Amino acid sequence: MFGRVPRKSNSTKYYEILGVSKNASQDELKKAYKKAAIKNHPDKGGDPEKFKEVSQAYDVLSDPEKREIYDQYGEDALKEGMGGGGPSHNPFDIFESFFGGGFGGSGSSRGRRKKQGEDVVHSLKVSLEDLYNGASKKLSLSRDVLCSKCRGKGSKSGATGKCYGCQGTGMKVTTRQIGLGMIQQMQHICPECRGSGEMISDRDKCPHCKGNKVTQEKKVLEVNVEKGMQHGQKIVFEGQADEAPDTVTGDIVIILQLKEHPKFKRKFDDLYVEHSLSLTEALCGFQFALTHLDGRQLLIKSDPGEVIKPGQYKAINDEGMPNHLRPFIKGKLYIHFNVDFPDSGFISPEKCRALETILPARTSRLTDMEVDDCEETTMHDVNMEEEMRRKQQQQYREAYDEDDEPSMPRVQCAQQ
Ligand SMILES: [Zn+2]
Ligand SMILES: [Zn+2]
Repeated sequence: MFGRVPRKSNSTKYYEILGVSKNASQDELKKAYKKAAIKNHPDKGGDPEKFKEVSQAYDVLSDPEKREIYDQYGEDALKEGMGGGGPSHNPFDIFESFFGGGFGGSGSSRGRRKKQGEDVVHSLKVSLEDLYNGASKKLSLSRDVLCSKCRGKGSKSGATGKCYGCQGTGMKVTTRQIGLGMIQQMQHICPECRGSGEMISDRDKCPHCKGNKVTQEKKVLEVNVEKGMQHGQKIVFEGQADEAPDTVTGDIVIILQLKEHPKFKRKFDDLYVEHSLSLTEALCGFQFALTHLDGRQLLIKSDPGEVIKPGQYKAINDEGMPNHLRPFIKGKLYIHFNVDFPDSGFISPEKCRALETILPARTSRLTDMEVDDCEETTMHDVNMEEEMRRKQQQQYREAYDEDDEPSMPRVQCAQQ
């Protein structure tokens, strides 16, 4: 196969340039190349010679055939054409194949780079049950795809001509006289080609897409909502957004929107539920069934003799939300207790005496002497929310009076 037997070599130079070991994997090579290429790219002020060396080293080591020749016979063997021939790659081509373009500076950008298409974002409403159990949702949408008949060329022949109206620039300049010897120049998008600079003759237009290059397609996306996903989490369908000629298709991004649940609130992987007890239940014990997000009935009950205070929390382990990464691990379920006191405003003196025999004795009764030393007061019922609102309004009014400006208050109180 070889014309002559080259001398044996044990070359390590390329490995040293990339800073990897001789048995580096393809992945390691890629990583090392990316790092070194960015660092030495001429557009970023790097040394062009060093950049070339990095690209050369990667070009050889990333090709198993060339790498084997290099490992066995060294750099010279490759130069002598043992690697299957052909000139070695342009360092900028290798760079662009990794990063989809240069840095936009001189040298590397040469106009044939593909545009990046836009991502399409949809929101998807999900219930807390969906996030607890996992769910599969169908989302139907329509998108542009490259015309299958003309493969996105827009013409039967595959050719596109230059627009005569704008000579292919996509822009047209018109002049008009606006006064004695005064001429105004105006630039606007060419109406004939709508700014594309191209024109397909009517006879040559693809009949399928009518020269538009793209057609509309209905698509049903199957969105897999995984157990434990969060409100606002993104599910990405890579490269499935609208297609356009010479464009890298963007992604369809689905953002989960959690609908509020009537009973449960979620914080991270924990669930919170509110429960009201009567005073008797709070003092003497209670039990009730709580329907969980998967339909199971949980029996919630107090320990014998246990007293629950208003505002008290209790927690049940492993009955919260599943963790997204490890769904078999679940958070806690917190129950927040509210105690409803009896609605009737009065308890008769007889009942009070009966209660006093059961409940802890009243503390700190004043002596008659101490009462005589005090001033009498009158307490009345009050709606505290209304009270606070009134005080805020009063503050606003005082603020207006200071600068005499009948405008809206500048500070909106965010208090709930
Ligand atoms: Zn034109
Ligand atoms: Zn077509």
